[in-house]
Amino acid sequence: MEITPGVHRIDGMRGNCYLIARDGLVLIDTGLPRTSWKILTYVRNTLHRNPSEIHTILVTHYHMDHVGNLPALRKATAARVAVHEGDAPYLSGEKPMPLPEWPRSLLIRLVRPFLGWTPIRADILLRDGDTLAGLTCIHTPGHTPGSICLFDPVERVLFVGDALMTEGGRIQGPSERFSLFQEQARRSLEKVAGLDFDVILGGHGEPVRPEASALLREFLAGERGR
Ligand SMILES: [Zn+2]
Ligand SMILES: [Zn+2]
Repeated sequence: MEITPGVHRIDGMRGNCYLIARDGLVLIDTGLPRTSWKILTYVRNTLHRNPSEIHTILVTHYHMDHVGNLPALRKATAARVAVHEGDAPYLSGEKPMPLPEWPRSLLIRLVRPFLGWTPIRADILLRDGDTLAGLTCIHTPGHTPGSICLFDPVERVLFVGDALMTEGGRIQGPSERFSLFQEQARRSLEKVAGLDFDVILGGHGEPVRPEASALLREFLAGERGR
């Protein structure tokens, strides 16, 4: 479905994936493994474009529900793959993927062996403040060491991955179950709250809008007052 002009969320994915359709196509996050066909079908049948037009894939962090289709999509599209340098070693298999402490990690430990995963080396290592494909990378560590938000200043959209969870279009704060460093994740939100955006698009759940930056600032003020 089209969320704002040219920004689409692909239907039926575990882990939201967003396509920005302009001259070329840019994909943000890729969902759980073995569902790349849903992304490719959306490009062909809904956008009436060719998957080879996806020139850049950015992932917000290394979790499997966000990077799962990277290997398949890189083959299907020849896109360059970008990730923050803090998460790149987990994506490439140079370092084992860290898990939240027991028992929060129980679910991940149970499902991980069944997901199947081919390590992948990113083409572009992002740092805080970098701009790629019209998106500004904001390093928001905490959920994972290299978690990022991506800011689209033209559409005034902030893609947050799992730096911020939303439920029914409402801001919930960082995921308590899956974030590695809660306090750091919360501090990272203070950083993005300084930007002005109308829509928050999360890794899970529905868009937060309108005036999403005001809603985030309100949420954080409430948290500080607790
Ligand atoms: Zn995550
Ligand atoms: Zn997620």
